[in-house]
Amino acid sequence: MSTVPRLTLNNGVEIPQLGFGVFQIPPEETKDAVLQAFDAGYRHIDTAQSYRNEEGVGGALKESGLDRGDVFVTTKLNNAAHAPEAALEAFDRSLERLDTEYVDLFLIHWPLAMLSNFVDTWKALEDIYGSGRAKAIGVSNFQLPHLRRLQAETTILPAVNQIEVHPYLTQTELTQFGREHGIVIEAWSPIGQGRVLDDPTLTRIARNHDRSVAQVTLRWHVQRGHVVFPKSVTRARVEENFDIFDFDLSDADLADIDGLNRDERTGPDPDTFDRIPPA
Ligand code: NAD
Repeated sequence: MSTVPRLTLNNGVEIPQLGFGVFQIPPEETKDAVLQAFDAGYRHIDTAQSYRNEEGVGGALKESGLDRGDVFVTTKLNNAAHAPEAALEAFDRSLERLDTEYVDLFLIHWPLAMLSNFVDTWKALEDIYGSGRAKAIGVSNFQLPHLRRLQAETTILPAVNQIEVHPYLTQTELTQFGREHGIVIEAWSPIGQGRVLDDPTLTRIARNHDRSVAQVTLRWHVQRGHVVFPKSVTRARVEENFDIFDFDLSDADLADIDGLNRDERTGPDPDTFDRIPPA
């Protein structure tokens, strides 16, 4: 079985570069999906309060018999809970549902810059970090102005920024900012929800390496220094997406894939996204 490389976050915590994302996996299917991912070798699970499947992740953690210290668990703050008191309360509920004493990483899911003061929310996350119940804290879907505000107005810089990244949305500016300030980029929708799978350039590179387009795309992320979360509940794909650590793309391959950027989102634009699901 391949070994997943680890990146070191800006507070010294190590994070496996490949994780299993459970977005849109129904609550009743999540435990089995995560157990299947554990079986394939994944040791990093990415969930969120709004996915409503933290209990399934917690159930899989228990049932797997794995040591808690061997699994990296991320969850994210529900948009309905940005007020600092609500954030602290929501975090406690996450620990209960995950049936764990700590998470490895806790993120603000969306900046919601038009609706809330995410700087105050971030200060609540700093308190949680100080309590030791989140080993690292970060953000998701933050744009440059949001990151610059945190930089200017708070004491801890996010350890990660989890954003939509794939060959059609290469996010050069945010990636560069992350590199300069030690903020690891985590890529969501790493294969563009499947949209990149028929791309002719990726197909050519995949053929040259005798790999699938999904594998070549995930490998591009890894070589760019991203953490990636491909999502699948199909056993063969879960295994295929894990099997990306025994080949290298050339500099020319990487440049060709970088060149596919079209600034094309598959998900919402963080500057306008303001959906507040029920808490
Ligand atoms: P993805 O790019 O992984 O696409 C998933 C789709 O691709 C599914 O239809 C799946 O069946 C298909 N697929 C997966 N592997 C394949 C393979 N090897 N061959 C062919 N098809 C394959 O995108 P996603 O599901 O949008 O995102 C992945 C994860 O990112 C989520 O589970 C979640 O953890 C995270 N995420 C975070 C946010 C956020 O706001 N922070 C938003 C969306 C997703």
